[in-house]
Amino acid sequence: MATEPESTRTSHPLDITVVGAGILGLWQALTLARTGHRVRLVEKSTNPFADSASRFAGAMLAPGCESETAPEVRDLGIRGLTLWRAVYPRLVNAGSLVVAAPRDTAEIARFGRATRPPETLDADAIAALEPDLAGRFVRAYYFPDEAHMTTPDALAFLLDAARNSGATVELGAAWTSPSASNVVIDCRGMAAADELPALRGVRGERLVVRTREIHLARPVRLLHPRHPLYVVPWTDDRYLVGATVIESEDTGAITVRSALELLGTAYALHPAFGEAEILETGAGIRPSFPDNLPHAEIRDGGNRILVNGAYRHGFLLAPVLAEAVAGYLANQAPHELLVFSERVAHPPRPV
Ligand SMILES: Cc1cc2nc3c(=O)[nH]c(=O)nc-3n(C[C@H](O)[C@H](O)[C@H](O)COP(=O)(O)OP(=O)(O)OC[C@H]3O[C@@H](n4cnc5c(N)ncnc54)[C@H](O)[C@@H]3O)c2cc1C
Repeated sequence: MATEPESTRTSHPLDITVVGAGILGLWQALTLARTGHRVRLVEKSTNPFADSASRFAGAMLAPGCESETAPEVRDLGIRGLTLWRAVYPRLVNAGSLVVAAPRDTAEIARFGRATRPPETLDADAIAALEPDLAGRFVRAYYFPDEAHMTTPDALAFLLDAARNSGATVELGAAWTSPSASNVVIDCRGMAAADELPALRGVRGERLVVRTREIHLARPVRLLHPRHPLYVVPWTDDRYLVGATVIESEDTGAITVRSALELLGTAYALHPAFGEAEILETGAGIRPSFPDNLPHAEIRDGGNRILVNGAYRHGFLLAPVLAEAVAGYLANQAPHELLVFSERVAHPPRPV
C-alpha cells in the first residue's frame, strides 16, 4: 500500500507554472502541489505524452544496474525508488536479473566490477527465480531491490495524482514566455535545447510485443558487447524490448537494423519471443548533458528553474529532482542536483 511522501506543507504558497508533462514535469507538479503550492501544469500536446520521450521509456528503477554508466546514479536512484514506492501502488518490486551467454564471460565480469551486484546466481537459482529461463544461463546477477512499472499506466497515474493534489492541468497549451508573477519550472525536455546549449539527444528505440508463451516476473538484461538488451514485463502479457543508445537526435521510426538486433537478441534470450506479436515500435530522444546526469538549473533569481538532462534515468531520478526543487523553494536547501547559473540572493517571494 502506498503511503504519502514525506512532504512538509508550505506556509508560503507560490504560483508555479510547470512546463511539460513528461516524467520530470509530472513529478514536479505532483510534489509541488502536495507541498501546498498553486501549480499549473502546461503541456503543448493535446494528447498527453504524445510528444514526450517519456512514453518510450522502459521505466525500470534500477540504480544498481544503471550505476554501470554513472556511479552517482546509485545513491540518487535509491532515493528515487523510495519516493516512487511512497506514491505509486502499482510499482512492481521484483528486482532485476542480468544474464549473459556463456561466451560473454568477459562482459559479465566487467558489468560485475562496475555495478557490484548484491547477489550472484547459479543455474538452479536462476531457474527458481525465473522458471522460463531454466537451463538457459549458468550465471546471473540479481538486484533484488530494483523495481519496474508499465510505462503508460504510470504516466496516466501521475497526471491524475497531480490533478487530485490540486494542480491545474492545461493540455494543448504551448508555453512561450515567463510571466512576472510566476515561478516557472521548465521541463520541456529536448525543446529547451535552445536555452541549454550543452543539451544533446540520445536516441533510444524499442518495441512492445505480446506473448503468452513465456512468463517473466522482472526485467531481464542480456549483456552483450555489441547488442545489449533488456526485456521489461508489462501488464497483459506485454513486454517492452529495448533499447538502443545512439548519439543521434533523429526522431524517425525505428530502423530495420535496430529492430533486427533487438528482436534477434530477444529471441536469443528465449525462443518464445520469436512467436510474439509486435504491438508497437517507437524511438524517443533522451535529453542528456555531457556527464549524463540531470540537473535543475536556477535562473532569474530563482524564478525560473530548468529541470533537464535525465538521459537514461528520467523515471529513476524525476522524484529526486522534484524533491530538490521543493527544498530549494522552501528554504534554499542545497542539493547535488541543483546548479546556479548566477548568484541567487533570495528565494522567490510568495505572492
Ligand atoms: C527507449 C528509452 C528507454 C528508457 N528507459 C528508461 C528506464 O528504464 N528508466 C529510466 O529512469 N529512464 C528511462 N529512459 C529515459 C527517460 O525516458 C527520459 O530521461 C525522460 O523521458 C525525459 O523526460 P523529460 O520529462 O525530461 O522529457 P519529455 O518526456 O520529452 O517531456 C517533455 C514534455 O515537454 C513538452 N513540451 C515541450 N515544449 C513545450 C512547450 N513550449 N510548452 C508546453 N509543453 C512543452 C513536450 O510535449 C513533452 O511532453 C528511457 C528513454 C528511452 C528513449
